[in-house]
Amino acid sequence: MRIKRFICEILLLTVVFSVCAVKKHSRTELVMGTILNIQFFSNKKNASQILDDAFKVADKYDKVFSSKQSYGEVFRLNQCGTTDNQDIYKMLQEADFYHKITGGVFDYTLFPLIKLWNIENALSAPSEEEISATLKNCGVDKVRFTDNQISLENNAAVDVGGIAKGKILHLISEYLRSQGVDNFIINGGGDIVLSGLFNGKREWNIAIKDPFSDSSVAGYIQMTGVTIVTSGDYERFFVGTDGKRYHHILNPKTGYPAESDVSSVTVISPDSVCADALSTSLFVMGVNKGLDFINKHKNAEAIFINKNGIVFSAGISEKTINGMRYFVVDKNKMSSNY
Ligand code: ADP
Ligand code: MG
Repeated sequence: MRIKRFICEILLLTVVFSVCAVKKHSRTELVMGTILNIQFFSNKKNASQILDDAFKVADKYDKVFSSKQSYGEVFRLNQCGTTDNQDIYKMLQEADFYHKITGGVFDYTLFPLIKLWNIENALSAPSEEEISATLKNCGVDKVRFTDNQISLENNAAVDVGGIAKGKILHLISEYLRSQGVDNFIINGGGDIVLSGLFNGKREWNIAIKDPFSDSSVAGYIQMTGVTIVTSGDYERFFVGTDGKRYHHILNPKTGYPAESDVSSVTVISPDSVCADALSTSLFVMGVNKGLDFINKHKNAEAIFINKNGIVFSAGISEKTINGMRYFVVDKNKMSSNY
């Protein structure tokens, strides 16, 4: 009798467990010029198809927003000087919004300079004359938004590298939610979207990289419902024949890589596009101006790291758990109103 009851209890437990257990699905592919990992918890039978289609979203929009690859629609816009592609139109309108609120620090018209610097392949810096001549072809006054059409003045060219990844992460998130997948993490080369819960149990735990060491961590964040984007000068750069390090985030005023006192800046926002645009912008602004800006901005918080240490915006505090630093972000202070 007892054995029978015991077996029944075991069976019941197994049933309850298999009802509760949610399967983890994860896939990693090279896309957007980086490693993209999408992970979610769901018992949906078509989970593998959802993953396939999520990567198709990434691939589709990478092909729209690329300015460097000849398959890119933005590349084509820069060749022909005009487009009526509405994804590009809306993207450039958003980029223009960030240009305005950052006082011109975020600039989507730097493509002539990006080409001149050619950070990925260059061995030496361009001359001062080349830089000042090229700077004349940059500037948002050379872009016209009319009747859902974009047109560029002669020699002007746009680049949305500072914001497109945030947009693509947002579009993948929208796609996953449209399929009833709410508990997910997307990691596009260190830019991360957190949604719902890990295994239905707790918020997601992620590490903020130490820009001075590949193997150590500056601290952790446990959160959900936000995108976390880091910009820094330690990954994409070259060392010139003059021994100087030239990185990929440019100061639109000088035409040179921004001489920033920031080694890395991490932005946390419920809005993926905002997190991406502001991480690039705060890097150029540096610690003091950047802190001033982000403390006035309602929709995001930021962590700045340099050789002198770590500082963060007013909505963040820190605590130590088991000897590890945690950044505690007050999500209630973040609103979607700017
Ligand atoms: P990553 O692309 O390495 O994640 P960012 O989001 O900070 O880093 O974007 C850097 C890219 O943004 C550059 O490669 C370039 O395409 C573009 N960019 C460079 N300087 C600026 C700037 N001042 N404003 C807007 N975009 C910029
Ligand atoms: Mg960015």
